[in-house]
Amino acid sequence: MPEMNQFVEVAVCLPIRKTFVYEVPEGMCGTPLAGKGVVVPFGRRFLSGFVLGPAKGLPPGKKILPIRQVLEDETSLSKDFLAFLEWVADYYIQPLGAVIQTALPAGIHLRSREIYAITDKGLHSLETLSAKSVESRILGNLQRRGGKGCISTRLPRNFSPSIQDAICRMMEEGFIKRVESVWVRKIKAKTIHYVKFLKKENGLFLTPLQKEALDFIQKAGEVPVQEFKKKFKNASSILLALKNNELVSILPKDSYRQPSWEEIEDWADGPPSLLTEPQKKAVEEIGQALRSQKFYPFLLHGVTGSGKTEVYLRVIEEAVAQGGQALLLVPEIALTAQLVAYFRSRIRFPMAILHSGLSAGERFDEWRRIKTGGAKLVFGARSAIFAPLDHLAIIIVDEEHDPSYKQEEKVRYNARDLALVRGKMEKAVVVLGSATPSMESYYNAVEKKFHYLTLPSRIDHRPLPDIQVVDMRQERGSGNARPIFSRTLEEALRQNMERNEQALLFLNRRGFSTFALCRDCGFVYRCPNCSVSLIYHLSDKSFHCHYCDFCLPALSRCPECASVYLMLFGLGTQRLEEEIKKKLPGVQVGRMDRDTTSRKSSHQRILSQVRRGEVNLLIGTQMITKGHDLPRVTLVGVLAADLSLNIPDFRASERTFQLLTQVAGRAGRGSLPGRVIIQTFNPQNHSIQMAQGQNFIAFYQQEAKFRQEMAYPPFTRLINLRLEGNAESKTLRYAQMMEQIVSRMLQHGKKFQGHVEILGPTLAPLARLRGKCRCQMLLKGRKWNVLHEFTKQLLQRAEEEISIPGVKLIVDVDPVNML
Ligand code: ADP
Ligand code: ZN
Ligand code: ZN
Repeated sequence: MPEMNQFVEVAVCLPIRKTFVYEVPEGMCGTPLAGKGVVVPFGRRFLSGFVLGPAKGLPPGKKILPIRQVLEDETSLSKDFLAFLEWVADYYIQPLGAVIQTALPAGIHLRSREIYAITDKGLHSLETLSAKSVESRILGNLQRRGGKGCISTRLPRNFSPSIQDAICRMMEEGFIKRVESVWVRKIKAKTIHYVKFLKKENGLFLTPLQKEALDFIQKAGEVPVQEFKKKFKNASSILLALKNNELVSILPKDSYRQPSWEEIEDWADGPPSLLTEPQKKAVEEIGQALRSQKFYPFLLHGVTGSGKTEVYLRVIEEAVAQGGQALLLVPEIALTAQLVAYFRSRIRFPMAILHSGLSAGERFDEWRRIKTGGAKLVFGARSAIFAPLDHLAIIIVDEEHDPSYKQEEKVRYNARDLALVRGKMEKAVVVLGSATPSMESYYNAVEKKFHYLTLPSRIDHRPLPDIQVVDMRQERGSGNARPIFSRTLEEALRQNMERNEQALLFLNRRGFSTFALCRDCGFVYRCPNCSVSLIYHLSDKSFHCHYCDFCLPALSRCPECASVYLMLFGLGTQRLEEEIKKKLPGVQVGRMDRDTTSRKSSHQRILSQVRRGEVNLLIGTQMITKGHDLPRVTLVGVLAADLSLNIPDFRASERTFQLLTQVAGRAGRGSLPGRVIIQTFNPQNHSIQMAQGQNFIAFYQQEAKFRQEMAYPPFTRLINLRLEGNAESKTLRYAQMMEQIVSRMLQHGKKFQGHVEILGPTLAPLARLRGKCRCQMLLKGRKWNVLHEFTKQLLQRAEEEISIPGVKLIVDVDPVNML
């Protein structure tokens, strides 16, 4: 009977539900290995993984392989952090390996690579081959590397065909073979060499230049060698002389690639001198919670422009002063340069930034810097919830209602919800902030699960903007065409421009038109891969699908009947820009949507143009609704409030209310009062009316009634099971089999009866997407434990009973996007 402490449970970095047992290398038994990174043999290759802890049992009848290598570096994970990842895997019903992959920077995973090596036969043949032949050159090369071949079996494209052929032939002849070689890491830590001052020359003879150099180094204490070389000619020989005399030493230091924030302008205004009363109260209460060092969740409900950022900054300062670390999550990092600037000009401790827009090297370095305690504040988008902070004291989730906190691929998690889980596990304070809290969060505040803090008015008693709703059914354009602008909005825009103020126009659809329709035969351009119509883009005169990358150059005639009456319908931001330029010639118009912001820092560039007054009228999609503080904007126009209402999703009203309130919140933030004009075909709709009154509480109450009646969150919990397959028939068959399993489970499992409701399976609203057929089955329940258990059993049975290749089953716990 082997001793159990010789074996450990390892999660390999692969999307596999199981964990595996490995043997601890000799001489390491008894060392605590939990959390350490390891390299383990897996099938024919090697993989990286993490030790979870001692093995709970040995799989019968299987040979247990030893761990190949234990990594002794800073990438090992703490017990708390591992526990958090295991929680995530369990709750979201995802493979632990996939969660680890999601949580750690890509560069950390070990890659194994297959390479060619020379065989004995190859070595012999080297003597007989003509020295000039391709074969001999390749073999010679492999030999020189001492058998540690240098040619990856994945040949680079630029290898000539003759080399590729030669390699094939030599494989057949047995001159070379494929071998596996473990490559430690794709991304390596970078080191910089410094010159360090040791002592003065004290009577030693130095040339004037050497003396000057030594003085320079003494003043600096330490200088990067690179910098030294820039300053002194013959730097190498000077350094050598100083080093030989033991006056200086050269030392390597870890260097961190830091993401560039150069494009961000510093915050011009000084810090506010006095907090407002509500700000003070919030800072005090959160401060108290910090001092108690317990888990303490807050909902900070502050209207737009009420100074939430200042509250965040003060409580983060307090957390850090107490020796803790802080995590500040924002919905989209690209849009929050202003927040970075606000913090950077005020705080004195190091901060780090984590988001998917960083290069792999930058991410890896920021991660290591956080891990080694080199950052007190981590600032990031949703993935930063996995920042490796060991002394987390506070987590702040700004704009907590924002759907971007939900990850919609691979491991589908919600960073807002995970903030609460992590806070609880690590006894940290959690602050969810928003002007329009999500139904879930406000419900939790009502239920007293969160402590409710409010900032009910704008700074300096600036009024909230005046909001007007315009009924577009009453508007007539020239002829029969529906106008884009109501008379009210057009007039307001003119006045705004005349007064030299600024305006935002919000339209949640990019591109030029919504669809192209043939007036003669009714033909509509549709995406062949997705169930949506194609959208015309002016910039490249093509039709684009907004879900996949399908694109079709525009033709002047209908592809079906060759009619020339192919008309563009519907309004996108590009067309809006054209129309506005016609209506208001001479006005500097800018546009901010996914098409104009594909390049790094283009957001900042556009927003800076508005701040400097180079752009006075900014058109944009929901990007412009998020958190910007543009003091000269006094008019906000919403072109079509109905767009988000008509989405087939139970959250459509909530999204509409949030979007309208947030975009309205961009108006009148400076000293001039703001005005908002909302155009709609549904002026009676309750989310539009409540947004008009900026009445969150009334909206919540009415929406809560609807959700309760329809049994939707926050009164129930949802898990969406989605099937995606290449062939519709297979996907539907899979769905049918799932349905059968479900009805059996409900018939026989007493504990599930009456607690789990099943909607579907049906085709998803987007029945085709990127060429895949999509079905979904929505599971609903009031008791989370029962619903969760049901889903796990269902998945287990589906895995055992259904084998239909080409159909993927995706689990989405607490789904946000139901399309
Ligand atoms: P929110 O995030 O709540 O919409 P911000 O944090 O952007 O609001 O604050 C709005 C503006 O008010 C900012 O320009 C900020 O500098 C300013 N501000 C915040 N607190 C104070 C204060 N106590 N006194 C004066 N100005 C303040
Ligand atoms: Zn036609
Ligand atoms: Zn498509």
